[in-house]
Amino acid sequence: MAVIIDGKAVSKKLLEHIKSETEKLEKKPCLAVIIVGNDSASKIYVNNKKKTALSLGFESIVIELPENVSESKLIEEIEKLNNANNVNAILVQLPLPEHIDASKIIETIKPEKDVDCFHPSNVGKIAVNGNGFVYPCTPRGIFSLLDEYGISVRGKNVVVVGRSNIVGRPVAMMLLNKDATVTVCHSKTANLSEFTKRADVIVSAVGNPKFIKKEMVKTGAVVIDVGITRDRDGTLSGDVDFENVKEVASFITPVPGGVGPMTICSLMQNTLALFKIQNNLL
Ligand code: NDP
Repeated sequence: MAVIIDGKAVSKKLLEHIKSETEKLEKKPCLAVIIVGNDSASKIYVNNKKKTALSLGFESIVIELPENVSESKLIEEIEKLNNANNVNAILVQLPLPEHIDASKIIETIKPEKDVDCFHPSNVGKIAVNGNGFVYPCTPRGIFSLLDEYGISVRGKNVVVVGRSNIVGRPVAMMLLNKDATVTVCHSKTANLSEFTKRADVIVSAVGNPKFIKKEMVKTGAVVIDVGITRDRDGTLSGDVDFENVKEVASFITPVPGGVGPMTICSLMQNTLALFKIQNNLL
């Protein structure tokens, strides 16, 4: 029976650490978030980010723009934040309305303030193993969990299922940087279970409930479930058939309460890191 990885507890511990570090600072880190439109899920996420930032003693700025805002107006708002001395970290909540080019927006954020670590220059730094302080939030959260449970990926056969820019790709690069042997699978992968069955560690980021079955998992494997799907009745499901897979895995993350709580925690770690870099404290 697997050890259940407790993301809530790890996140709480790391947030307490950030709070005590922040108390010692003369100036406080400032996180600015731009939200476009009225998407209710995005509003909840932005509100949680603001609440968490304030609870740690950070400063928080939220800029709300209407759904029909022009791309040039949004770029203008980002430029203001890029140039504001009091702002250390900038995030534009995704998804954006269709008339706005998300890649262009991500590239407008000054890389030194890019708290999501989505700017191609920051992604490139991870690709060449050159960034030591700021990482995409969900992958960073996965590594915090592995560290906390003493799980090393060095020399391990790790299979990442999913290749998105926010999870699959960056997590694969970061695993490689930690000396794992990494295979990235996706929707065109033939015979997926042949890959997953050989994995010492599986990271699944697909968004398909109970997609990873017990028969696809080697006995003793570590299973990290990034997927979150909301059922009609509001229940959250992961990618992994948790009840059955936990019988064979050595460690497993639940949904909810596994990787989920780590993402916001990583965002706060990144904000503090950007603040420290900008103030020559790192
Ligand atoms: P995307 O939809 O961008 O990517 C999904 C990936 O899964 C794609 O690479 C796709 O392949 C792959 N895929 C789809 N079907 C299959 C299949 N049958 N076999 C193998 N691979 C497949 O999603 P995200 O990466 O943004 O998110 C993935 C999941 O993680 C979602 O449930 C999301 O809600 C959750 N999530 C959770 C976070 C958290 O904080 N815990 C943060 C971010 C995301 P292809 O590239 O070929 O299309």
